[in-house]
Parts: sequence; structure tokens; C-alpha cells
Amino acid sequence: IFRNVPLAPPDPIFHLTANYKADPFPDKIDLGIGAYRDEAGKPWILPVVQKAEALVVGDPQLDHEYLPILGLKAFRDASVRVILGADSPAVAEGRAVGAQSISGTGALRIGAEFLRRFRDAATTVYISNPTWGNHRAIFEDAGFAVQTYPYWDAAARGLDIDGLLAALRAAPQQSIIVLHACAHNPTGVDPTAAQWRQIAEVCRERAHFPFFDCAYQGFASGSLDRDAAAVRAFVADGFELFVAQSYSKNFGLYGERVGCLTVVAHEPAVAQHIESQLAKITRAMISNPPSHGARIVSRVITDAGLMAQWQRELETMAGRIRAMRQALFTHLQQLGTPGTWQHIVDQIGMFSYTGLSPAQCQTLIDQHHVYLSSNGRISMAGLNEGNVERFARAVDQVVRQ
Ligand code: PMP
Repeated sequence: IFRNVPLAPPDPIFHLTANYKADPFPDKIDLGIGAYRDEAGKPWILPVVQKAEALVVGDPQLDHEYLPILGLKAFRDASVRVILGADSPAVAEGRAVGAQSISGTGALRIGAEFLRRFRDAATTVYISNPTWGNHRAIFEDAGFAVQTYPYWDAAARGLDIDGLLAALRAAPQQSIIVLHACAHNPTGVDPTAAQWRQIAEVCRERAHFPFFDCAYQGFASGSLDRDAAAVRAFVADGFELFVAQSYSKNFGLYGERVGCLTVVAHEPAVAQHIESQLAKITRAMISNPPSHGARIVSRVITDAGLMAQWQRELETMAGRIRAMRQALFTHLQQLGTPGTWQHIVDQIGMFSYTGLSPAQCQTLIDQHHVYLSSNGRISMAGLNEGNVERFARAVDQVVRQ
């Protein structure tokens, strides 16, 4: 009965990782998937995570019962404060709620499902061009038509703010606009505070619904508050909105799937109703979320001392990535590599959008054993003092070919 099922293509980024792993070349470099690596190129278990995990597993009360449908209450409440700020009026007024999710992806998925049920079926979702590869699939799977708004100005290697604003102005009223809260993936280019105000203005004029995707809070600048500034500005402006929070990158808890959908409504009663519907959606989709990672994060974000340690460790990760941007830039300059490379130091977060063409990327893979996405995006975390010069030389050769 399944003879007509076509073969689905592999996911490009996970496929790239598999190819990297299969390559026997000793000095291969993995700049594909967005996962933090330390100076030795190894995954980093944050010391604060080790500490919190020891507390979790050492708790004599620990059991493996189901969590409630919406997850761990302490985690949800604290997660809302992490993104909106402990002093957020929306929190004080009881009109912000959080639903624990299967990381950022799950938060986007349950948020999308809610919107499909409770917004006009004809509502269009707008995602940036380019964006994280999964955005389109998540919203299409929820039944939405997905359009794009311009984001990247290839010539200027920066944000196409005019194109972005024009597209949001031209979008049908009450569209859903997916916005990267910080550290835009894949470009590493974020709007400035003034540009965020312009975006908010258009969203207000057109009654659009902002759906923030926040996968890198603390990772972009090293500061949780600074990286939440855009979301908080929209809340201060009086928007109702969703934020998909991921704790994959900022805690290094990728495989534990810890996330939260934070909802800000105008009134507490509305927030409660939305929360009840998210519970209904979650129940049918996953019944209830996993406990282990949420317990770890919860320990940290409900404790002032651990919270301070976490922020120092975020700064360690963000700082190492910044140092690698500088090192790559310096090497390219010393090599006199044709082209301008200033964008590498100007961009922020996990990724750099190099501007290398798909053909150049393929040559890097085939001839230099350097694995990167075909759109020229590199995960800066894959670089370290031991390989950055080799990578710069490889880029130099490829650009000159
Ligand atoms: N949004 C963006 C922009 C991302 O880059 C990612 C991770 N690559 C996610 C969401 C979701 O990741 P996760 O489901 O692991 O939280």
C-alpha cells in the first residue's frame, strides 16, 4: 500500500554532518550544524549545567513521573521572566504565560498550531529570506501558506531594511510575522534598535502578529538582557505576541529538548484561555514534555547564584566566537584574500554568512574537507586557534580559483 510513497530528500544540514563524520581526513573542519564547540573543537558541557544536573539527580525526591501537560511550573514561570525580564509589566499584570515545549522547534510548532486554529484560515505567515531551514516546514505542516520578506542585502552584506519594511507594508493585514529575536540564522545580521522600532511601527499599522523565534538568547552578545531587547521593546509597545524560546544553544542542552512558548496577551483572562488551548494541543501532540532538561534549566534560572554563573558561561561562549570572527578576519586580511570581509566581524551570534557561492562551498568540501552549508553559512563555533588559519587559507584558495 505504500508503493507510491516517494523518497523524501535528506535534511541538508544533518546530511552534511553525516558526511563530515564519514570523512577519514584527520584535519577536516565542521562548520555546518549550529552547535557550540570549545577551543579543542569538542562539545562543551557548561559547568553550571553539570552543577545543576548533580542537584537534579541527587534530589531524594526525584522520580520519573509524568510532568503536567504544560510542563514544569517553576520552569515555565522562570522562562517567561528570562525572556521578558523579571520586572516586565506583562509578568506583573499576569498576562504572560509559558508552555514548556520540545525545545525551540516544538515551541514554534505548538504556536503555529494554535494560530492555525484561532486565526483566520487565510492568514499568511511571513518568514525572512533567508531563514533557518525549518521555519517554512514547521508553518506549512501547520497548514499555513508561507511567504518571505526580504532580509539579506547581498551587495551590502547587511540588512535590507527597506525591502523588509516594504514587504511587511504590502502583506495582508493581520499576517503572522516570524522574527528572529537575536542572532539571525543564517545571516548573523540583526536590525538595530531604531530598525526594530520601524518594524514594530509597520506591524502596528498593519495589525500583524509578531512571532519571535529566540534560539540564541545570551549567545549573540553574551547578555541575556541585551539579546531580549527586541522582544521586550515590542512588549513595552503593547503588542500581543509569541516567543519560541530554545535552551539548546545557550545551555548546550541540544539533545535534551528544552524550550518554552511564551505568550503575551493584553489581558490575564485571554492569556489563561490561550494557555488552556496550548495544553489541549500539547496533549494531543506529545501528551507532556520531557522532564530531565527542564529540571536542569529550572534549577539554574530560579537561583540567583547559578543564574550569575550561567551568564558568565554565556559570555565565555559568545566571547570565544567573537575572538574567532576577529581571527578569521585578520587571517583573510593578511592573505589579501580578494573581496571584503568586514561583515565577518560585524555579524553576531553562532553564524557568519560568508557570501561564498554554492560552487565555492562545494569546492571547500571536496578539496579542503571543510564542511559548510551550500548557502555559505558557517558556524563560527567550529573554528578554533588550531584550525582558523587553515580555514582562511582554504577560503583564500577557493576565492582565487
Ligand atoms: N530557530 C532557529 C533560528 C534555530 O537556529 C534553531 C536551531 N538551529 C531553532 C529555532 C530550534 O532549535 P531547537 O529545536 O534545538 O531549540
